[in-house]
Amino acid sequence: MSGVNLTIDGKKVTVEKGTTILKAAKKLGIEIPHLCYRDDLAPFSGCRICVVEVEKAKNLIASCSYPVAEGMVVYTDTPRVKKARRMVIELLLSDHPYDCMTCEKSGDCKLEKYAYQMAVTTSRFKGEKHAHPVDITNPFFERDYNKCILCGRCVTVDNQVQHAEAIDFIGRGFDMRPGAAFDRPLQDDISTCVFCGQCAGVCPTGALMDKSRRFQGREWELEKVRTICSFCGVGCNIELNVKDGKIVNVTSWKDSPVNKGSLCVKGRYGFDYIHHADRLVTPLLRKGAKREPTEDFEKTSWDDALTLIAKKLKEIKEKYGAESIGFLSSAKCTNEENYLLQKFARAVVGTNNVDHCARL
Ligand code: SF4
Ligand code: SF4
Ligand code: SF4
Repeated sequence: MSGVNLTIDGKKVTVEKGTTILKAAKKLGIEIPHLCYRDDLAPFSGCRICVVEVEKAKNLIASCSYPVAEGMVVYTDTPRVKKARRMVIELLLSDHPYDCMTCEKSGDCKLEKYAYQMAVTTSRFKGEKHAHPVDITNPFFERDYNKCILCGRCVTVDNQVQHAEAIDFIGRGFDMRPGAAFDRPLQDDISTCVFCGQCAGVCPTGALMDKSRRFQGREWELEKVRTICSFCGVGCNIELNVKDGKIVNVTSWKDSPVNKGSLCVKGRYGFDYIHHADRLVTPLLRKGAKREPTEDFEKTSWDDALTLIAKKLKEIKEKYGAESIGFLSSAKCTNEENYLLQKFARAVVGTNNVDHCARL
């Protein structure tokens, strides 16, 4: 298939027909700023930060959605382009709290990043400012629409990826913002929100922020640990954000092979058990022989516990036969762990009595 040839900032590039200017520029290593655009979501073309100059075009063009054309000549960094981008940032800041010193998004906020890059310290546009009440009513994330830049990412991911259709833009003109049906809380009876947190995950500012993060560590202090969710057999990739050995929230990344950044409520928000005081972190040995729930347990080492289990399994097998023993595995284990358990049951103990917690 023949490609489309164009020039961007004096460099020639050939890309497939239908490629956007932004993607063609990326191929050349030219990063065009963008707020609403994400390469895993349909273009919204609302923020106008990604505008570029194209020879013979009268107006500036939104590069995130405009397709390349043969012979096109594009400039991404002219004084006219820079002036337009600065104006967008100033307009956004004209109705935005200057809250970065305590905002959990600071360090990972695209508005903060571009305001800094473009040296926009204040806004020349004075006027009305919103004072939306911050919605802290659901257990998972806060909704502070004073920090919303109307990029539409939350609505797109909710409608087109999660297919929950729990939120959309509500209101008109200056009062437009994302919201749930009848502007009710997301946890309302009529809401279709499943609290996957996808909207919070793609929000480029602090408008949608995980509650668990609040005052638990600045973005640059967090260690990012990539691992696999242990809730079910899908095996979604997750990223634990850790401060001083404590997980403060869970995020995901869009190039993850299994889930492509999507998570469900359990994977994203169900991590409090990890640091729960009741969690078993060492094997426990029952002191008596009565199997009473109130019976005392004492801590033991893994070596002692495994030695005892092996001894008991051997005794039972000798006395009653291998068929008297059964193994129950779990969806919370990895495929490899489940494979090992059935192999152990069949090859070592000699029984096919293997089942799974989902069928109990
Ligand atoms: S959303 Fe971004 S720009 Fe706004 S207060 Fe938070 S860090 Fe600062
Ligand atoms: S949490 Fe999930 S379902 Fe609820 S509004 Fe956000 S994206 Fe939609
Ligand atoms: S809440 Fe966040 S993702 Fe949604 S429109 Fe506002 S800034 Fe964009």
